[in-house]
Amino acid sequence: MSDRPGTAGNPLRVAIVGSGPAGFYAAEHLLRQDDAVVEVDIFDRLPTPFGLVRAGVAPDHPKIKSVIRVYEKTAARDGFRFFGNVEVGRHVSALELGERYHAVIYAYGSPTDRRLEIPGEDLEGSHPATAFVAWYNAHPDFAELDFDLSCERAIVIGNGNVATDLARMLALTREELEATDTAERAIDVLGSSKVREILVLGRRGPAQAAFTNPELRELGEMTDADVDVDPAEVALDDLSRAYLDSDEADITTRKNVEIFTEFSQRQPEGKRRRIVLRFLRSPVEIQGDGKVERLIVARNELYRDQSGAVRARDTGERETVECGLVFRSIGYKGTGLDGIPFDEGRGVICNQGGRVTEPGSDRPVAGHYAVGWIKRGPSGVIGTNKKDAQETVDNVLADLQAGRLDSEAADPAAVESWLVERAPEHVTYSGWEAIDRAEQERGKPLGRPRVKFVSIEEMLEAARSGYPVAS
Ligand code: NAP
Repeated sequence: MSDRPGTAGNPLRVAIVGSGPAGFYAAEHLLRQDDAVVEVDIFDRLPTPFGLVRAGVAPDHPKIKSVIRVYEKTAARDGFRFFGNVEVGRHVSALELGERYHAVIYAYGSPTDRRLEIPGEDLEGSHPATAFVAWYNAHPDFAELDFDLSCERAIVIGNGNVATDLARMLALTREELEATDTAERAIDVLGSSKVREILVLGRRGPAQAAFTNPELRELGEMTDADVDVDPAEVALDDLSRAYLDSDEADITTRKNVEIFTEFSQRQPEGKRRRIVLRFLRSPVEIQGDGKVERLIVARNELYRDQSGAVRARDTGERETVECGLVFRSIGYKGTGLDGIPFDEGRGVICNQGGRVTEPGSDRPVAGHYAVGWIKRGPSGVIGTNKKDAQETVDNVLADLQAGRLDSEAADPAAVESWLVERAPEHVTYSGWEAIDRAEQERGKPLGRPRVKFVSIEEMLEAARSGYPVAS
């Protein structure tokens, strides 16, 4: 009989599905603690790790991307392995992982977008922000998309940080883009964009915008774009004013309203582009002959619903805005995985504090856990996942102590043999390091941090070649 899991003779073997921030923070918490010996295998469907830090964070935010250094330290810990280019749900199933590990933690985020559910949403020129973000970040699944930026006005729907990323990316100059790791194709398209106005529409008011302060402030600091806020729109309605005057008001909202007010007092400097922020407007129909030509917008007013939440409702007033592009930036959405209980309404895996639970009950599904966006929904910044991962890992360790993870696990070599069979082209962490070096090398002659590969085949080629470490 082998030792209980968590000892040197029988380490606790954990599979983590998804190598974004939540997956890496969970791995770090597991590998760092002293009470049990733990081994972690992280799986990712791409050959490259780091999830939205690589394929979501805007390329002009290299400081945010530098959090990768923290994840590299985790990857260097004993007991860590990475298996990229392995899709759970395709090459292997979640339940097969469950049979081979003492615990499986789902950390695969929210891979799709939410829809507006309005007529014309699928016209050419109407895009989910998620696709545009993935495209400019060289995500291989989106590399071939075409974005026609030959129109004068692009509209971004939504008042979250992804909307600010889009607005900035549409307003950056070619020179600014060339200093980043933006996909090459996207640099060409964005660099020759004819878009002069980026109109960002919020369905509620300035005091309900989901922007964080630095991201909002940046919209007023663009080299080649003026920011435009109508003073009449920052004159707050009674509900918002009462909220801001109360003790409940959070500091981010107060600061946002100050920033909007400051923007509204500016005179345009005659820059080439304008980022226009408008509030209390919801899209109701996208119109055009085969492609986006105009957006029909409803004017909203705010009201307090029965739960006390401030919501937008249609006043019946309409306006028509000519445009050639519409980006819906209204949030990401999670999807389920075969065999794992999923809450379709919330787009999250059914869980309690990260313990996967049977649908509609508190009963845990032994050995299965969730972390990050697929646990709590697509909210918060990168750092939010650290605390979130701590909670999930605490529950894994509590279950270990309570003897609830005593099933047999496959040893590391057996997992590797299984993967050779199921996903022969899987990429290990050293394979990723070779890809990383090759991308950085491609960037050097251009003075860019890296030139990303956009096809899986190119990535696999670099991984196989074991791109040499610079001497
Ligand atoms: P988000 O912050 O949840 O914002 C979504 C926006 O869409 C909200 O303004 C929401 O308005 C609006 N919306 C939702 N449904 C709508 C509809 N049917 N019609 C019109 N508007 C609608 O989501 P996100 O921007 O996708 O960002 C996801 C998370 O990533 C956030 O936590 C964000 O802070 C984070 N993020 C951070 C950074 C950064 O730190 N630099 C960058 C990107 C993303 P309501 O408020 O009225 O619902």
